[in-house]
Parts: sequence; C-alpha cells; structure tokens
Amino acid sequence: MNEHLQNDIVNLDTLLEKVKEQGVEYLTKITDRPTSTKNIVEGKLNLSEIGFGTIETLKQFNERFEPIMVSTSGPRFWGYVTGGSTPASIVGDWLTTIYDQVSFATQGQGDISALIELEAIQLMLDLFELPNNFLGGFVTGATMSNFTCLAVARQWIGKELGKDFAKEGVSGHINILTATPHSSAIKSLSLLGLGSKNIIIIKTQDENREAINIAELENKIIDLCGEPFILISSGGTVNTVDFDDFIAIAKLKEKYKFWWHIDAAFGGFAVCSKTHKHLVNGWEKADSITIDCHKWLNVPYESAVFFVKEQHKLLQVETFQNSNAPYLGNPLENFSYLNFLPENSRRLKALPAWFSLMAYGKRGYQEIVDNCIKLSNQFGQFIKDNNQFELLAPVRLNTVCFTLKGEENQEKVNVFLRLLNDTGIVFMTPTIYNGQKGIRAAFVNWRTTEKDIVTVTRLMTEIIDQLK
Ligand SMILES: *Cc1c(COP(=O)(O)O)cnc(C)c1O
Repeated sequence: MNEHLQNDIVNLDTLLEKVKEQGVEYLTKITDRPTSTKNIVEGKLNLSEIGFGTIETLKQFNERFEPIMVSTSGPRFWGYVTGGSTPASIVGDWLTTIYDQVSFATQGQGDISALIELEAIQLMLDLFELPNNFLGGFVTGATMSNFTCLAVARQWIGKELGKDFAKEGVSGHINILTATPHSSAIKSLSLLGLGSKNIIIIKTQDENREAINIAELENKIIDLCGEPFILISSGGTVNTVDFDDFIAIAKLKEKYKFWWHIDAAFGGFAVCSKTHKHLVNGWEKADSITIDCHKWLNVPYESAVFFVKEQHKLLQVETFQNSNAPYLGNPLENFSYLNFLPENSRRLKALPAWFSLMAYGKRGYQEIVDNCIKLSNQFGQFIKDNNQFELLAPVRLNTVCFTLKGEENQEKVNVFLRLLNDTGIVFMTPTIYNGQKGIRAAFVNWRTTEKDIVTVTRLMTEIIDQLK
C-alpha cells in the first residue's frame, strides 16, 4: 500500500479530529466571515508524483483556498436564493460520506439507501402537506428536478401523440405553455430535445405580476383544439416570488388534457407558514412538482427532490429505465431508483434531509420559514420608508426586489450594488424587472436575525449617501 495511504489510515483519528476542529471554527465564526472576496489563488499546480499525504494537503488547502472561502451559507448572503446547512444536515452529510453506500437504492436487496430515501420522501410529503400519491426522489438541484419531471412529461405527451419518445426520439411539434419560467426549466427543454424556443409564452396577470393570466391561458388552450400540452407553472418566481393560481389551473385540468408541472423550488416552503400556505392551495393536483432542498430546507448542496404522481410510474420507468442490465432486475417488480431518475450510481443524498427533518420536525421548519418571511418584510419596510430606495414589487414571501428611487438613478444601481457587495458584509444579486435595473435580497438562511437586518440597512444608508 502507498506510504501516504498507509499513514493516513493509521492517523485517521487525528485527521478527522483536525477537520472537526476546523469545521467548528468555521461554523461558529461564519457570521464574521466575509460574503465576498477579491483575492484569487495564485500559481499553477501540477500533479505530484508521490503525493503529499493528507496532513500536508490540508495545510496547502488551508494556505491557498481556505482564506478565500466566503460565507455563502452564512446569515447575510442574500444573493440568488441561497440556503445554509443546519447542524443536523451536516451530521447527515458527514455520515453519507463515511458510510459511502453504493446507492443503486434497490429495495430489499441489501441496500439501505432506498429505505432511507423513501422515508425521507415521506417526511418531505408530510412537510409539504402533499398526498401520498406522489413518487419522489432526490436529485442534485432544482434544475435536475425540473429536468426529471419534464422528461416524464415528454414521455406523456409522446404517448398522447401515439409515440414512444424514449425509444423513438422526439418528433413533431410539442406545445409547452408557461408565463414566467425559471431559466432552468428552459435549459431542461433544451436538454430534453423539446426545444427551448418551442415555448408559448402566456401573458401574466398584469404588467406588475409574474403569475400566469388564467383567462389568456384558457384562450390559448382553446386555440390548441384539443392538442395535448405541457404547462410549466411557477410556485414562486425568482424576481418577485409570484405564484400562479393553482386552484384555477386545477379547474382547467378537469376540462383539458395537459401535463401540469410546478416549479416550486423554494416557494413551495410557503406551505410551512400558516399565514402564507394559501399561496400553494391546489398544488396537490399537479402531475409533477420541483422542490429544492439546498435552498430553504437548509441542507448542504447538492439536494433537491422531484415529486411525480404515482399514476405516471410506467411513463417514468419508460423514460429512465436502465435497460439491458439483467442484474438490476425488472424495474416494475423490483423498485430501484436508477429506473426513476437520471443517475445510476449516486451518493445517499437523502440522508442530510432525513437528519434535518427528523431533528427539527414540522415546527422547526415552520419557524425557519416564518422567520425568513418576517425578516424580508422588515427589510421591505426599510426600503419603503427610505426615500432613496423603492420596491419594484410587493414582498410576497421571502424576497425583496428593489431599486434606487428615481429614473436618473438607474445608472447608479450597479455601482451601489458593487460597493455594497465589496464590503463583504452582505451579498445581493442584480436583476432586471419590468425593464428596470434592480437588486434582489432573498431570505432563506436559518441563521439570519433582526440584527443582520439592522447591520445591512445601516450600511446601505451609508453607501447611498456616499453616492449622492
Ligand atoms: C433555484 C431555482 C431553480 C434551479 O435550482 P438549482 O438548485 O440551482 O438547480 C429552479 N427553479 C427555481 C424557481 C429556483 O428558484
């Protein structure tokens, strides 16, 4: 055995102890760690002939990379929609690595992974108050969840057109209706050969909304004269967290034939809040739903789930079955995740989510979600009350979309944002909404407190005054 490898196994205790200490140090001080850095790593590295051993490698990591790690999972990283990691999810994540199960997730064949994943899915369905007629699984992110759901939708629409797209490839024109899809849904259409240009954009309710206009949607459906279509709807848009009217869409689904997909990557968590759960009323009627876990569930990257109605199981297997592998069994008799989602071998992704859901329960997530909603409203109130800023949209859930007040200040928006982000105290991301340059702040991290709001609003006031 290689000398370094031999050494490492003898010193495993020391190695893991060091990493534990370093982890505790990082996580307890994450609030003070900058949210951005301008430093980059110098020098080019070549693969060493004999290696350095892990202790020395850790030293090199700590010299070169550790100092420029930014606190994307800290309390004031409000860019994109970025969650953090709860302690329980970190425990689950470490154990995932330690046990390193071969996760074909084949139930009843000596693989515990499927049992844990199915149990985690049940906990997720409970959290989201969704019925048990959904089959769910874990993928790397909401992009892959959208991809997985839309892949089954593709097979469904093929069947409606008398074709088996999985076997024959996609052909003919596919109708895809949507109002304000997430960029990753469009990307999925490209990947699936459905063509990102094939979407038919339906108007929004009015120019200040991102939710689909139901009357326009129905008109379009009537125009299609009974042709099947896929509807991609939003359960929380990224800019303004707008929700399509799921109750109205569910009614349309009783009248017309379509596959209904909801991208509720983070907006689905509205269900955890008594005051906001109405936003997803009716979503249980959808054929498929995307939920991100590495956002509001606050588990480490890469984690998301898809939910596809169990009645579409055959379509899902036709899409994903890993055929011609006799040792893997009949997909409909021996349940195995590799016949239901894109990957074959994968890590036990469900474990961090399982740990966090078990550790904090419904109440724990209710509190995280309510806290984020409260803080985004407080931040939104600051924007409203301050005569140098203005909201670009009302605060509907956990995101504040705002800009500098006055047309003449549009050119200063990006300068302001750069100065703000350069402080390393907070991080927000730019956007364009209704033709106006804006800034988004999204609240999804379990660590964020009112103190953070105070810190950031003070800082913003200082910076905007400098800009005058
Ligand atoms: C974040 C997000 C996605 C993409 O998620 P990834 O985890 O980055 O793949 C898709 N849809 C919505 C609505 C999102 O917010």
